[in-house]
Amino acid sequence: MKNFRSLAIDGGAGTGKSTLSNLLSERNNYLYVETGSHYRAFSWMLMESEIEPEKVNEFIESNSVSILSKIIKNKSLITIDQKSFSKEKLRSPKVNQNVSRYAAIPALRKLLFDYQYSQVELAKESGFNGVILEGRDIGTKILPEADLKIFLWADAQIRVRRRSSDGETDSIISRDQMDMNRIEAPLVCAEGAIKIDTGQFSPDEVYEQVMRALELLR
Ligand code: C5P
Repeated sequence: MKNFRSLAIDGGAGTGKSTLSNLLSERNNYLYVETGSHYRAFSWMLMESEIEPEKVNEFIESNSVSILSKIIKNKSLITIDQKSFSKEKLRSPKVNQNVSRYAAIPALRKLLFDYQYSQVELAKESGFNGVILEGRDIGTKILPEADLKIFLWADAQIRVRRRSSDGETDSIISRDQMDMNRIEAPLVCAEGAIKIDTGQFSPDEVYEQVMRALELLR
């Protein structure tokens, strides 16, 4: 039987993390966990309840929420109190604008830590060949012991162009600034991560580079 592999993929907005993760998960039967969607789901839910970031500590202390996963094909999708979240909600302009404010709150990151870490076991139990956790702090905080750590980056202009061709209203540069400058789990390249400039390569070329690095592990 093949060795189970854990991959940590980090990088700023529009660097191609989800394109790479989709290719890797579909072609190798890995479970794909997009941790940005966890922060997006909480942001949506908290904004719906009119809970400002300053009130999140209080909310978490006085409420118990159940966080579970629903696996659809190769993706693990978060549910909060049995509710799932559509792409329209998760990627709405309102969430794009506010998610980094909520993601900077230590209590929310702490709440999600165990859930995100547990995805490795979930992938094993569910018969996947590996797991991909993708986000901002996977290689530094959630899975520093991952078999392979990847850090993607690309020129800001390229990233902005990619996002607007997706049809999204998203100020990715200011989101990155907030994510890089926050105190808790800032966006940085993890020690030992392979850095790839995705502006220089096609999605398939990036995929091939990662596959070669995975083969070297054997
Ligand atoms: O990956 P995505 O752009 O959907 O992430 C949305 C936001 O969630 C990021 O801008 C960041 O503020 C937060 N995030 C995070 N840590 C992660 C993943 C996402 O803080 N591991």
